[in-house]
Amino acid sequence: MEASAGAAAAGVGRCAEHGKKLAYFCKQEKLRVCSKCVILGSHREHPVVPVAEALSELKELLSVCSKDLESKCLEQNLRLEEIERSVTKTKEEADALQRQVEGDFDALRRFLDAEEKALTEQISAEAQGILQELSRLKMECLQRVGSLTGLAEPLHSALQTDNLSEILKVLDISSDGSSCSSATVNEPIVRFKSEKFLGPLQYKVWKKMFQVIQTVPEAFTFDPLTSHPHLEVSPNQRTVITRREALPVPYADGRFDTCLCVLGNEPISSGKHYWEVIVRNKTKWDLGVAYSSVPRHGDLIYKPSRGIWCLTLRYGCCYEACDENDIELEIQHKPGQIGIYVDYEGGVVVFLDAETMQTLHVFRACFTEQLLPLYSPCIVEEGTSTDQQLTIFRLYLYH
Ligand SMILES: [Zn+2]
Ligand SMILES: [Zn+2]
Repeated sequence: MEASAGAAAAGVGRCAEHGKKLAYFCKQEKLRVCSKCVILGSHREHPVVPVAEALSELKELLSVCSKDLESKCLEQNLRLEEIERSVTKTKEEADALQRQVEGDFDALRRFLDAEEKALTEQISAEAQGILQELSRLKMECLQRVGSLTGLAEPLHSALQTDNLSEILKVLDISSDGSSCSSATVNEPIVRFKSEKFLGPLQYKVWKKMFQVIQTVPEAFTFDPLTSHPHLEVSPNQRTVITRREALPVPYADGRFDTCLCVLGNEPISSGKHYWEVIVRNKTKWDLGVAYSSVPRHGDLIYKPSRGIWCLTLRYGCCYEACDENDIELEIQHKPGQIGIYVDYEGGVVVFLDAETMQTLHVFRACFTEQLLPLYSPCIVEEGTSTDQQLTIFRLYLYH
C-alpha cells in the first residue's frame, strides 16, 4: 500500500516498487499502477483497466458532470429570468394599484373639498346678505336718530321759555312735519338663518358622497324565468326562498330543472360591479357568478372551468370556495351579508363579508363570456322555516 501510494505520488513514470511503467489504473484506489502491481502486488484483487481506457472513461464522466452542471446553470438562469419578470410584474402591479388607490382617494377628496367650499361660500353669502341688510337698517336708524334729535331741539329750548306763543309755534311745527306723536314704521331686524346649515352635517355629506363612488351596491334582481320550480321569487324580484312544493311556474328554456338556482337579471360583460346579498342566519347558500351559457338541465358543477365562480355555505359554518379543488375557508365572524365584486376586464371575482368589508375569497379568471349573478337558497331542512330566504340588498340613498 505504502509503495502504491508512493507510485501515485510519483505521478507519471515508473512504479517505485517494481520499476515498471504505470500502464494501468486501479479503479478501487484511483491510482496508476504497473503490471506487476496488478499480477503480484497489492492491487491483485482490484478492478484494473489500461490507463487509456481509464482516461476515456473519466473523460466521459467529466463530460456528463459538465453537461449536468451546464443544465443546472441554465435552469438557475431561467429561474433568475423568472424572478426578474416577477420583480417587474410586482412593481407594475403595485404601481397600478397605488395609482388606483390615489385616484379613488383623490375623487373623494375633490368631492369633499368641493362640498366644503360650496357650503362655506353659501354660509358666507348668506351672512353677507344679512350683514348688508343690517347695515342698511343701521344707517336708516342713525338717520332717524339724527332727524329726531333735530326735531327735539326747538322743544328743549321752548321748555326754557314761558312765552306762550313761542311754545304754541313750536308745538304747531312739531304736529305737522314728522310729528313726535306720529308712529315710525320700523322694518323687522333681519337675522342670520342658520337653520338650513344645521343637522348631522358629516352624515349628510357622507350620504351625498355615494354620488362619486364608482362601485356601490347595485340594485340587482332575480330573473324568475331562470328559477327552479321549487324557488319562489318575490314580486319585487329581490327575495328568493325555497318551497317544499313545486310552484306552477310557466315553462322556460332558461329555467333550472335540477339545481335549486336562480340567475340575476343583470348581464355582466364589462366594467366593475358590486352587489350584496342578505343571508342573515341562513345555514346554506350558494352565491357567485356564472357564464350565461351554463346548463339549466341536470346538475351544475361549481368550478371555474365550468364557467362558475362561487362560494357556498353548508351546515351554517362550513364555507367553501368552489375552485377546481374546493377550498375550505376559515371564517371567524359569520357574515349576515355577502358582497360580490366582479371586475370583468380585470378578471377578478371577490367575495366579501359585507358587514366588515373583509375579503373572504378572490378568484382570478379570464372571462370570455357574459356573466350573470348566480344564487341558490338550497334545500330548506325540516324545522328551519324562518330566515331561509336570500335578499338582494338595496342601498336607499337617492331616489
Ligand atoms: Zn508496480
Ligand atoms: Zn488497487
